[in-house]
Formats: sequence, C-alpha cells, structure tokens
Amino acid sequence: MSPQPRGTNRRTVLAAGAAATAAAGVAAAPAAAADPAAAPGPADRPPATAQRPGRELRALLAEVDPDRIEADVRRLAAFGTRHTLSTQDDPDRGIGAARDWIHRRLRHHAAASGGRMTVELQSYVQQPANRIPVPTRITNVLATLRGDTDPDRVYVVSGHYDSRAGDVMDATSDAPGADDDASGVAVAMELARVLATRRTAATIVLAAVAGEEQGLYGAAHMAEQFRARGARVQGMFTNDIVGSSTADDGTRDPRTVRLFAEGVPTAETPDEANTRRSVGGENDSPARQLARFVRDVADNDATGMDVRVIYRRDRYLRGGDHIPFLERRFPAARFTEPAEDYAHQHQDVRVEDGKQYGDLPEFCDFGYIARVARVNLAAVWTLAQAPGTPTGVGIVTSALTNDTELVWDRGTEPDLAGYEVVRRETTAAEWTHVEAVGDATRHTVRASKDNLFFGVRAVNRAGHRSPVAFPVPRS
Ligand SMILES: [Zn+2]
Repeated sequence: MSPQPRGTNRRTVLAAGAAATAAAGVAAAPAAAADPAAAPGPADRPPATAQRPGRELRALLAEVDPDRIEADVRRLAAFGTRHTLSTQDDPDRGIGAARDWIHRRLRHHAAASGGRMTVELQSYVQQPANRIPVPTRITNVLATLRGDTDPDRVYVVSGHYDSRAGDVMDATSDAPGADDDASGVAVAMELARVLATRRTAATIVLAAVAGEEQGLYGAAHMAEQFRARGARVQGMFTNDIVGSSTADDGTRDPRTVRLFAEGVPTAETPDEANTRRSVGGENDSPARQLARFVRDVADNDATGMDVRVIYRRDRYLRGGDHIPFLERRFPAARFTEPAEDYAHQHQDVRVEDGKQYGDLPEFCDFGYIARVARVNLAAVWTLAQAPGTPTGVGIVTSALTNDTELVWDRGTEPDLAGYEVVRRETTAAEWTHVEAVGDATRHTVRASKDNLFFGVRAVNRAGHRSPVAFPVPRS
C-alpha cells in the first residue's frame, strides 16, 4: 500500500466497513491527530478477500520496464497523427504506419513464446456512420497468449492506438495522442512482452484497437468477434488515458489509478432487472465483482498502487472501449489516471498565452504508466491462472428459513481445489468474511440471507482464487 494520501470520498464511503478490518486481521493504526486525511483508514487496508502476490507474480511484475514503455509512447506519438481517417499507406505518418509498427513489435515479442503467443490484424471495413464519412478500414492488432488448459476462457487488456486533434473529424493535423491513448497501448504491448515467456491456464489477449475516438468501432468489432465464436470472456480492461499522474492544478497523485465499474448491467434483461430489484443486487454486477477482484490482487506493495474503484460506468460525457464488451454481457471496466488535464487531450498542438497545449509525451509520467501496467498484469495473470468464475450459483429460496443455502456447479479445471463462500453486510462495499467450504457444490450458512450479501469463488491447488459470483434466487 502506498503512503500517499488520497481523496476523502473513498475513505468516507468505506470508513463504515470496520468489519473488513477485523476480518482481515489487521491491527488498527494510531490516528494522526494533526492531519486525519493522511492517516491510514480502513480503505488503506486490504479487503478480507485480498490475494497476496506470490513469488512468481512478483518476478513477473518486476520485469515491467518504464524505459520500454517510454520508448513505445514516444514512437507512437512520432507518427504525427493516428487519426482513424488518416492515411493508411504512408510508411511514416498516419494510422497505417502506427498499425504496422505495433504489428511488428508484437510479433517480435511473441517470438519468445515458443508459438503460444500469436499476433493478428483483425480488420473490417466500416461503412459510413457517425464520425465515419466514407468507407474506412478499421484494424485492431491483437496478441493472443493461448491458455494451456482452458483456452476458450479469455481475459482482455486493451488500449486504443487511434488519436485525435481538437476537431474529431480532422485527420491531417498533428495528434500525438501520447496520453490518449499511446499510454494504454504501451501497457498492452509491455504485457505482451513480459507474458510471452509465461504459460497460463486461460487465454490472455493484449489488444491495440482503432476507431475509439470515432465511436468505439474497433472495440465493438473485437467484442463481436469474441461473441460470434462463443469465447467465454470473463474479464476485459480498457486502459485509456493512463499516462499522467498530474492534475490540471499541478497536484500529483502518482500512486492511484481509477477503475470505473458499472453497477446496473448495461445488457440486463427485464427478468434480470426484476431479480436485481427484488434482491438488492445493484452493487453486485459482474463488473463490480471484477473491480473487487482487481482490488484484491493488485492494490498492494508489489504494484505500488492504490486502485480507486469508481461506482460508475465511465466519467461524465465520456465513454470507452469497455462499453461494447458490457453490451455483449462480458464483465469489463476502465482504467484511467487519477485526474485528467484537459489541456493535454483532444487539443491541437499549440502555444497560447505562453501555455503549451496538446497531448505530448513530455506531459507523461512513464514510471506511473509502468505501475498501471503492473496493476493490469497482476489482475490478468491471476485471472488466467485461477479457476474461472463459478457458474450456476444460486441461493435456495424454496422455503422461508433463517439460514442461507448456496448451490453452484462444479468447475472442470484439473487443479480445482474447492470453493469459498464470502459475505458482507448489505451496506458494505467489499466482502468482509471468507469461509472455505471444501470441494462441494452446496453449503449452508447459519445466517439469514435476508440480512447479508453472499457470493462464491473457486480456489485451485496453487491458492489462486477466482472472482466472486453473486447468486440468483433458486427455488
Ligand atoms: Zn481515449
């Protein structure tokens, strides 16, 4: 955990969750009388469900290299513009040159994988639509590390390599897009580099997508391809504007990354909405469980970062590449820097009244981007090593009782060890109690389902835990 003070919002919200502290077995820290905002509060302690990084993960995180990330961001910014409507056949300038460079670099990284990592150009022609005036080829560049034992279960980390100037239809002016979003592309590329030498149980896809600024076109195409082939995408993270730790007023927050995660699911059906209203499930969407999982595995001394989960799909007036995944019922969330500086995104490069505008590499913090990469790496590596999220999880409601009976389907992972039942007060933000229940598919808790929230997660022999599944009523 970092010693950095952080915004009071999260601290205030979580301060009520004293049970989390007791469950995690962490002693209370003495309060700092002079500056309460600087004292560690309950939110600075790990959740009861936290998974400490082991030796293998720590070694992996240590390989993330801020110098390589800096080189990638500077190279991407040097293509002049990467606007989706810019030239695709100039070798030096425009989105086509950027696409081919990313493709070459990822193929270079994949060469270390012994054939397990493959790189593809995923391409289609977008017919005229909003912000696309003429038929335009949109190409994603994907590096896929195929899972050893569960290859159809997929986790995705993406950034978008298209960029924009002040006018979203201006395809010729310089649009270096260093923070938005060469930073996110550099995260995906650095993960491809360090993961190429590893084996994972499930599949990891590292993606650089196009068409984001014109309307999330590339990510929508990628999500649709996963849906069409029946891939079980159990987690997707877009990294968009993760390049700077400095706010527009000059304050720095270099140890915090925001993670935007929706509550009410974007693609909820009317029946699911009825169930959610009846059980009070609005804070227990798959995206929220995914965000809690990221806190569990990536908010620690190994990443050097606080993950500030925001209970919202995205910022006001904004959207991102996680949304097409949410629309197809895939759990997804968005990483973004702690406080954006609007002088350095979606701006023409210029000096005005002595002030430099534009999304230039000089305003990026490459050590910060490396820490964001470590957060992504801890999350996606643990997801791909752990069992999948439990399925068929129900809470038995065939009779009125003051117990809680949970049922679920047994997973098929060869190294599956068993399950844990988690619970919390309905007013708590994070799970506060964990109970190991062995290799079972049914468990009864002597506590009322009317008063608490429950969930189930899977554990394998190496001790890796899946995200939590939230039960639906089952008669
Ligand atoms: Zn962006």
